[in-house]
Amino acid sequence: MAKSRFEYVKSFEQDDSLLPQCWIVVRIDGKGFTKFTSAHKFEKPNDVRALQLMDACAKEVMREFGDIRIAYGESDEYSFIFHKSTHMYGRRSSKLVALTVSCFTGNYVRLWPQYLPNVTLQCTPTFDGRAVCYPTVEILRDYLSWRQADTHINNQYNTCFWALVKSGKTTTEAQALLKDTQTRDKNELLFSQFNINYTEVPEQFRKGSIVVRQRQRVVVKHGEDGTPVEREVSVPTVLHVDIIGNQFWVDNPQILS
Ligand code: ATP
Ligand code: ATP
Ligand code: MG
Ligand code: MG
Ligand code: MG
Ligand code: MG
Repeated sequence: MAKSRFEYVKSFEQDDSLLPQCWIVVRIDGKGFTKFTSAHKFEKPNDVRALQLMDACAKEVMREFGDIRIAYGESDEYSFIFHKSTHMYGRRSSKLVALTVSCFTGNYVRLWPQYLPNVTLQCTPTFDGRAVCYPTVEILRDYLSWRQADTHINNQYNTCFWALVKSGKTTTEAQALLKDTQTRDKNELLFSQFNINYTEVPEQFRKGSIVVRQRQRVVVKHGEDGTPVEREVSVPTVLHVDIIGNQFWVDNPQILS
């Protein structure tokens, strides 16, 4: 096709292709979800419906982009790990981030009525996103451990904070009571004042969501005589397990191979 004299503007675009042979992490995070969650009266500290909506969106992203090996989610954020050899969109950072964010956000709006059927969506949920390259599996695992440790720290704090607030403390009082407390102090506070054993808080809240592809036998069609025809397919599946220790990776060596 003939080119117009305006074509030169294309040369102003900058190359943002990510380093080859590095694992690519795209992390997205809800914008202003502190406000968004209170506007929609989310259950505190953890609204299960909203967490399940986040997980459902992450599964859709994994269905859309086959090079994602694992995803990790907590609160209003999700990290998607693209295989180090992906050639998707020439590994261009802006393309990967924009497609991940818009796929996630579009599904968040589309699936909202399914997960929060009695809650009217009052404003447009938006997510930011970034891509980071990690050169080795070791550092990539440290990245995932960092996020899961963050889940634990935040969840323990939020569990204490909201127990105090629900017991009648103001948010300022609750904050002051928790200032400078260690893990042990928080567990002690939960147990002595609220009879909550932190280790019995659901794994979904303490460990966050891990999405991996698992082989499942599913019925793909029915034969003429009605007999079901099964096939083994790979289905994005949500787990709430420890990924800081070695066991998960020993059991699932294919994820980061
Ligand atoms: P920013 O735009 O900088 O990300 P933010 O308000 O979204 O600001 P975050 O640090 O991302 O700040 O925190 C997310 C907020 O959303 C927290 O207040 C968290 O408690 C809340 N939140 C996220 N998911 C849920 C949920 N499922 N149930 C209850 N609250 C939630
Ligand atoms: P890519 O993912 O590379 O962008 P694409 O299929 O989206 O692939 P584009 O070059 O972006 O390719 O082309 C957009 C396509 O959508 C064209 O085929 C265009 O005709 C069609 N399209 C966009 N808007 C409309 C519209 N309003 N009515 C009809 N067709 C449209
Ligand atoms: Mg943030
Ligand atoms: Mg946020
Ligand atoms: Mg967040
Ligand atoms: Mg297009």
